[in-house]
Amino acid sequence: MTLQPSKITIHTVGDSQVAVHSFGALDAPYALISVHANETTAIEAAKLLIRRGRPLVLHTLVHKTSRRVSVRFGTKTITVDPNRIFTHQGIAVELDIRRFPSRSAWVPPITQLAAELVARFEIPSRPVAISIHNNTQKGSLTVHHYAKGKPQQKEASDVFAAAENDPDDFYYVTTPALFQQFKTMGYNVVLQHGQATDDGSLSYYCAAQNIPYVNVEVEAAGASMRTNQKQTQMLMILDAVFVWNKLSGQPQNV
Ligand SMILES: [Zn+2]
Repeated sequence: MTLQPSKITIHTVGDSQVAVHSFGALDAPYALISVHANETTAIEAAKLLIRRGRPLVLHTLVHKTSRRVSVRFGTKTITVDPNRIFTHQGIAVELDIRRFPSRSAWVPPITQLAAELVARFEIPSRPVAISIHNNTQKGSLTVHHYAKGKPQQKEASDVFAAAENDPDDFYYVTTPALFQQFKTMGYNVVLQHGQATDDGSLSYYCAAQNIPYVNVEVEAAGASMRTNQKQTQMLMILDAVFVWNKLSGQPQNV
């Protein structure tokens, strides 16, 4: 049976609309956020956990089943990566304002959309923001990309990779406490650097706002079901990491 959304909101940007569909109990103790509509392995894993009764709500951005969101302004259509619009700098790069200064007019509506999404994803009102992502191509983004001498090295202040783990699957966090927890449990984890590049991503935004952030990054499922199970497992590990205080409903040690 298909899981039906508990809540749907429509957000207007330029002459286009995007929706946010939420699944599960809206008052659940923690929320998962999916901004990339094409990363269906992550979305299906979260829905599976909701069907199994895990206490979470899933917020998904819904437009086309693509990574980038198409936005029409009159006769012009541009696409933006929805995980690059949470800062002014990120939006400026996405719109390529340096080459196309006239696109500055589109900054306010996209800034407004980002603010609506932040509120709709409950980022200010939850103790931790949890994103779910898939890396689509084998080896396209792995925990090793953040190691010393590697392209993403300056984006990370600490990296832990266990030899027995698939390098495509890792947690990406913004606080040393979260890093330590995943490391102690033996899972691949990357700690975002305090001076990471402002790319307009939700992880950069949350770090700047002092909101603890976790991204559960898993290789997308191909023909095999194995990776689906892996994402499900990695989401279930969050249950163990966030030891919920039954009285306050607050996670400890984030
Ligand atoms: Zn993604």
